[in-house]
Formats: sequence, structure tokens, C-alpha cells
Amino acid sequence: MALGRASQQLDLLDPVTRFCEGTLPGNSIFVFLHQHREVLFPDAVFTDLFAMIGRRSVPPSVVAVVMVLQRLEGLSDREAVDRFTFDARWRYAAGVGGWDGEGRAAFAHTVLVDMRERLRRSDRPDRIFEVALDAARQAGLIGRKRVLDSTPLYDAVATMDTVTLIRAAIRGLLGAAAAGGGDLAVGLRAVIGSGDAYAGTAKPVIDWDDPAARGGLVDSRARDGYALLSVLDGMSDLPEPVRQAMRLLATVLGQDLEDDGVGGLRIARTVAADRVISTVDPEARHGHKTSHRGFDGYKAHVAVDPDSELITATAVTAGNTGDAEPVTGLISDLLNQTRHEAAGHDSAGHDSAGHDSELAEAEGPAAEGPAAEGPAAEGPAACYGDSAYGAGAVLELLEQTGIDAKTKVQPPVAAKGKFTKDAFTIDLQAHTVTCPNQVTMRIRPVRDNPRHAGRADFGRACATCPLAAQCTASKTGRSITIGHHEARLAAARTRQTDPAWQADYRATRPKVERKLAHLMRRRHGGRRARMRGHTRIAADFTLLAAATNLARLAVLGLNHTSTGWTLDTA
Ligand code: SF4
Repeated sequence: MALGRASQQLDLLDPVTRFCEGTLPGNSIFVFLHQHREVLFPDAVFTDLFAMIGRRSVPPSVVAVVMVLQRLEGLSDREAVDRFTFDARWRYAAGVGGWDGEGRAAFAHTVLVDMRERLRRSDRPDRIFEVALDAARQAGLIGRKRVLDSTPLYDAVATMDTVTLIRAAIRGLLGAAAAGGGDLAVGLRAVIGSGDAYAGTAKPVIDWDDPAARGGLVDSRARDGYALLSVLDGMSDLPEPVRQAMRLLATVLGQDLEDDGVGGLRIARTVAADRVISTVDPEARHGHKTSHRGFDGYKAHVAVDPDSELITATAVTAGNTGDAEPVTGLISDLLNQTRHEAAGHDSAGHDSAGHDSELAEAEGPAAEGPAAEGPAAEGPAACYGDSAYGAGAVLELLEQTGIDAKTKVQPPVAAKGKFTKDAFTIDLQAHTVTCPNQVTMRIRPVRDNPRHAGRADFGRACATCPLAAQCTASKTGRSITIGHHEARLAAARTRQTDPAWQADYRATRPKVERKLAHLMRRRHGGRRARMRGHTRIAADFTLLAAATNLARLAVLGLNHTSTGWTLDTA
């Protein structure tokens, strides 16, 4: 399919155009898209997605406008196309005018599906987000502060219990084998001993109140699974879909089952750390936003510029991923700027003598990072986040790159009101810990532990200590562990007691919560993912962020002139 070109000459007497220009407020997203659509989404932005010859596509700038408005209003593909067809504001924003003009009267909802797929397979799947952010940067709206936060994204599939998971994984494997042709599917079916045809999703009919019947069902389906895997074990020329189905079945069997001690298999008593919860979306995970609030699916992460309230980066991870994990990607623009400055270049890419950076040109835009421009780009770089971002590794990253750490560090906690760790004096120079009873013990190194670098055991001293009831219930006495980032965390805890630090934190960090609430407010495509699989959900969330940014830019009065993007100060 070849690139369809948007009409450049919209009739100024067009009734839709005249009506919208007379009625819509100037800071409306419809007006913003109408005025700047051709600058934001010129044909050149989408040329690589289409062939040179063939039937003309719907102009990508028109589709891009529809995709933005669709995400902003939380609509399905059919609903979005319906709005484009009948809503004057959508037609005005897309620049197609009224129904009797030269613009398009309508297009099929599959055009949106096709465009998402083309973008997903391209080198720049997030280009709509990028063009909006580049416009904001040019106008000097992106500063050197970032606020980070995450929120649950519920998956679009039902969470499966163990029996359903195993049966679905077996059904998937049999289906993949049958699709590959040959005798493989016949050979696999020959080893199924339970008599289950694995033909549908309905659970086998048993007495579910009978523990023995439930146990027998789990055991028999698990044995089917292992028998199938043993047939495939060692086969080197299996088609890739069969390999994928085989891996999924092995994962499901391994995560949910354990030996029952009498020669059978039963559902494991403990939940595997990285448990697959659905064969329909095997990348979704069970996660916790708080210790009491669980969810199934993914986590959406954002970095926000707190002054302009624009989203500067997004990430989507499995629901069980810690918030600290995607931090490097979320603040990569800030990291690139500060590293570049440390190498002797200012934030706009000039060296200390004011010349354009040859290094930046040699490294290219990805290595340099987007240059910050305008007054907002001045001042120290800072990163804000709640205690989920107060991990030692995050503090280390910020410290090493010269970014001011405004991420809160959790105070130490202890069970049942006992002395917390900060009641002990830790002297890392002398390698000692002194307890509230003034007993001093040496810190012993702990090797090969991801969390602890050392440990001080008070042991027998606790047996006769008058403060023991306030300190420990352990018969072997109190122990204090020393983390890999102990000094850094202690310094951060001290720093965050400063009233000025607290006032800045309180004034800045909540802005990201408001932004997340804004992103999640629509029922369709807000909190609940609209699609399956990490890649598609991440692209969809980034598109939502792009749409939200464009709406924000309209409110801020961004305008494009002959000199580029500027803020409308009139
Ligand atoms: S219980 Fe042990 S660690 Fe705690 S104050 Fe007494 S001696 Fe020190």
C-alpha cells in the first residue's frame, strides 16, 4: 500500500471549518490539531511505513489525528471511526472538512489496526509521542526536573487457575503441532492418558467439593503435560510455534506443581515469584501496588516534567516488576544531558567554549540525548519519586550522574515496636555497630548476597540485656544487616529531614499523581489494557501519553511560527 497524501488546501468556506472556528475555544485540542497537524504529522514522518506503489492509504496525518483523539477520549476503533465520520470537531481536527468536500467521508476501523501494526513493526514505533515531545522541547517547555511514578494496568484477559492454565497450555501445544502438519499432532495425542480431548475451555466435570477428585484431575492433566514434553524432548527441527507452546507448557507445569509425596503431583503450596497467570497473555504477572493491594497485568511508568506537566517518557513492565527497574530508561534524556555536561558541554550541546559539539554529532542524537532548550532547561537536574524509587541503586545512579536525588527513602522499620535500625550507631569506617545498650560489635562481611554486604550479631550480649524486651524476640539475639548502599541511604534519610527538602518534595511530587489519574480516567484503554502482550500494551500506553501531551500543549498555547515552536504569549 502506498502513502496517501492529505489535502493541503482546505476550503475556507467549508461549513465544518467555519462552524468549528466560530465555536471551539482557542485552547481546544481540536483547534490545536487542526492548526498544527501538517507540522506535527507531515507525510515524511510516515513515509517508511508504506510502499512506493500500490493503492493509496488513508493519509497518515488523518489517521494520526484520529488515533490521538481516540486515546484521549478512550474509544474503541469502531467508535473512533464513527466519531470521525459524524463528529464535526473530529473532521475539523483531521482537516478533512465537511461531507461534501474533497476530504474523506469515512474509512474502515481496520485502518487503525493496520496503522498500529505498521508503527509497531517500524524502527520508531513511538513517533507520535516523539513529535509532540520534540515540539515541547523546542518551545523550552521541558526542564531538568523529572517526577517518576507508576500505576497498575489491568490485563485484558482472565486470570487462570492451575487446571485451566495447564489445559490451555496443552491445548495450545496440540493446536500448534496440528497447524504444523505432519504426524506430530497424532504422536502427541497418542501419549495423552487422561482421556481429556483438550478441545475446549470448559473445565472437566468432576465433584469439585471432593479433594481426591480435584487432586486426581490436577495429577492426570499434569502427567499429560509431562508426557507431551517428553515426546518433544530432543527434537531439533520443531516449528517455532511448537517450541513456544512447549516452553509455555513447561513453565506452567514447573511453576504450579510439586511432588505430593506419594508419587503424584499436586498444586504447589507456595506461589512462584514470576508466575504466568494466563496462557492468553503469558507476559502478564500478578503484582502489588501496596502490600494489601494486588492486581493482575502490567505496570505503567511515567516520567513527568513537573513545571509543564508534560510526560517526558513512558515504560510498561510486567506487574511484578519493581518501580526502580525502569528508572534508567525513564530519565535517559536527563542522564544523557548530565553526562554530556560532565564531559564539558552545556545542556544545549555546546562545549565550554560555546561551539557546537562535534562529539554530539559523532555520537548522533541517541547517544547525545535531546538537547534541552529555553529557560526551563536551566538549573540543576533533579529526580523526584516516592519511596519506591528510594532504592540504593537509584540513589547511586543519580549521584554518579550529578542529578539531585529527591526520591524519598523509607525509614527503617522493626516488628512490634522494637528498636529500629536507626537506634543503632553504624560506623562504617570502624566497621562496628553499637546498640542502644552501648554494646559494640564488629561488622562481618557477607559474601554473594544481593542485598547485604555485612552483618553484626549481638548474640549472647542480648541474653542478659535489660533492654532485650524492646529490642528482639530472637533466642540467638539481635542482628543488624548492612546493605550495599548503607552510607548512601543513611545520608539520604538525613537529607530528607531538612524542611526545605520536604517543602520542595511536597510541592513537586504530587503532580505526577494527578497526571497518572488523568491518564487512567477513561474506562476504555485507561486502567484496563485494550490489547494483549507487552509490546502492544507499551505502544498503546505511549500513544495515550502522546495524546495527553498534545492536549496539554494546546492548553499551554503552543504555536508554530517560521522560527519553530513557541509559546503563544498573547
Ligand atoms: S538486646 Fe542486644 S542488641 Fe538489643 S540493646 Fe540489648 S544487647 Fe543491644
